This record gives sequence, C-alpha cells and structure tokens, in this order.
Amino acid sequence: MRKKVIAGNWKMNNDISGSAELISGIINNIDFSRVNSDVIVCPPFTSLETASELVKNTPIKVGAQNMFFEDKGAFTGEISAAMLLSAGCDYVILGHSERRAIFNESNEWINKKIHKALSSGLKPIFCVGETLEERESGVMKDVLKKQITEGLTGVTSNQMEEVIVAYEPVWAIGTGKTASPEQAEEVHKFIRDLITKMYNKDVADNLVIQYGGSVKPNNAAELLSQPNIDGALIGGAALKADSFIDIIYSAEL
Ligand code: PEP
Repeated sequence: MRKKVIAGNWKMNNDISGSAELISGIINNIDFSRVNSDVIVCPPFTSLETASELVKNTPIKVGAQNMFFEDKGAFTGEISAAMLLSAGCDYVILGHSERRAIFNESNEWINKKIHKALSSGLKPIFCVGETLEERESGVMKDVLKKQITEGLTGVTSNQMEEVIVAYEPVWAIGTGKTASPEQAEEVHKFIRDLITKMYNKDVADNLVIQYGGSVKPNNAAELLSQPNIDGALIGGAALKADSFIDIIYSAEL
C-alpha cells in the first residue's frame, strides 16, 4: 500500500511572518490523529528555516521549490542542496512547469538536479505535465515519456524509493480547470506503466504519483480516490490553512 503524500507549493507567496502565520494556522487547526498521509509544506527560500522550526514537533515536513545542481561557487541567485538541508528541508520540488516555462529549465538540467538532490539526501518531487496544445494535438504521452525518461536518466531502482512524481497538466495549474478524475487516472496509470518498463513492477508499485492542478477541497476526494493517484501537489488552495487541511482530510475518505 502506498502512503499518500499531500504537499503545498506556496510559490512566490508569503514573507517570513506570513509563512509563520500560515504554518501556525495549519498546526493549530489540524487533527493529526485523522491524518495517515505524509504532509509537506514548500514555502519560499526565505521562510524555510522558520517553517522547519515551527513544524519540528509535528509530522509535517518541509520542502523547497527549487535548487541548483552545483555545490557552491559563482552561481548568483542560486541555492544548493546543502543549503536546503541546513534550512531543515527533506524535500525539493524539481521541474515545476513554471520553472520549465518561465526559467527555461530543460529535462537535462532537471535530471542533474534530481541526481544532486538524491546524492545529498533530499527527496525530489519531480514534476511533469503537458500543455493544452500538446494534449489537443495528441502528443501528450510522447511529451510525458520524454520528460520522465530524460528526467530520470541514470536514477537507479534504489534511488527511485526516494522519488515522488507529480503529474501536473500545465493547463490545470492555477487556472481553476482540473483534470477530471478519469483524465488524471489515465495519465497516472500511463506513468506507472512507463516506470514498470523503465525499472520493474516493484519500483512502479511503490512510486508515489501526485496529481497537481487546481486541486481544491471540493474536488480533492474524488481525485485522491483514484487507484493510481497517491497524493496532491497543491498551489492556490495550500495558501489557506483551512482549505489545505480540508484537502489533507480528503485523502482519508
Ligand atoms: C502548483 O503550483 O503546483 C499547482 C498545482 O498550483 P494550483 O493548485 O494553484 O493549480
């Protein structure tokens, strides 16, 4: 049985005090006895240390939203894996569609980042997803296959135990348009079958595949009840403690 993983991607929202307020709102209102999933919050870099301090005595873990693959040096504006570890992170989101589209991140770069995260002891949340144009022109599966095979090049079966894949159709991110549970399930099944071919059934069966794209309290339960949907990566609805908690509870239904 795979454990569900619910993660909040705060994107470029919340300064340090706003982050502390949101985390306190989650911690003070959630009933952990109702929660069997792993819960992760991914605030901006500047709030990571504060977030880690605040969640210290709770089951909540902290993730970053990006990192660079070099260890140190003349990479102005970048953050290393060691820096994220020293700020208390256990996870890092890599290959988010906003990084791919706005900051031109290639599959090759994402692959290097995944390797650096894994060799450093950070668990990557590896995002993949097609645009609307790619879906409508019939190349969705080719695009996903390329993202996944190139993103995971050289990653071993053992290392795959630490990897989470997040399927996030670009057309559903921040748009209010969610993939239907059937659409999402079809792609999650496709990804799991692809992982079986790339590795083996064991690796595929153990892989957590999150869905992301306008997950809200009113659609989470149906999405999360699909056999191949093992959690959610949540943007907008993770910015309010009550909606984030509602989604966490939806995973238990
Ligand atoms: C995301 O940023 O990963 C995301 C899924 O955003 P939203 O939930 O707002 O669509």
